Amino acid sequence: MSIAVNLKNLLESIPAHVRLIAVSKTKTNEMVMEAYHAGQRAFGENMVQELVKKQEFLPKDIEWHLIGHLQTNKVKYIAPFVSMIHSVDSYKLLHEINKRAAQHNRVIECLLQIHIAREETKFGLDVEEAEALFRSEEVRKFQHIRISGFMGMATNTDNQDIVRNEFKTLKDIFERFARENQTIRFLSMGMSSDYIIAIEEGSNMIRVGSVIFGER
Ligand SMILES: *Cc1c(COP(=O)(O)O)cnc(C)c1O
Repeated sequence: MSIAVNLKNLLESIPAHVRLIAVSKTKTNEMVMEAYHAGQRAFGENMVQELVKKQEFLPKDIEWHLIGHLQTNKVKYIAPFVSMIHSVDSYKLLHEINKRAAQHNRVIECLLQIHIAREETKFGLDVEEAEALFRSEEVRKFQHIRISGFMGMATNTDNQDIVRNEFKTLKDIFERFARENQTIRFLSMGMSSDYIIAIEEGSNMIRVGSVIFGER
């Protein structure tokens, strides 16, 4: 099956209000271009170095999303072009993103990554931390970032009830914030193995790689 066909099938199977971020990590520029020619413009990468390299060589109208853990000292490399950072999980990181975006006279959209999975290894904030970050006076003064939603990753398990419950938890958080803040618009949850459940539970932004580009 070709990338263009996979993409078309996927897009036809999801509701129109759900945004697809095509996760191109480890895939070649040629493969990204196949998706690009099929109409896809939003791509996600989880490593800064790979993202910077791809951005350099690929069309400038691609909207790049950083979906993996981001170290503060690497923000400067992506600040000139990155459209959205899904993995914000500290004040320090937010401060740095704001500072670097300011140097380029840009506003970078940020999602707060919430820890919903059972695994210890996954990054992210708990609800109280997210709340504190979102409400902090300092953060409210930042002119070059916009906190526009939340991202979460469910536990890597075959047990769909666990996955569904974790997505429900994140959806509740999203709704609570979105009720009070018009800037909260995106709920980034769902990858190849669980995007169907994620959409059923209210996701409006999915990050899908393998289903489009094949296994890594
Ligand atoms: C790799 C990755 C994805 C996509 O994974 P697939 O299983 O290939 O769909 C989504 N989100 C994050 C944070 C990732 O690192």
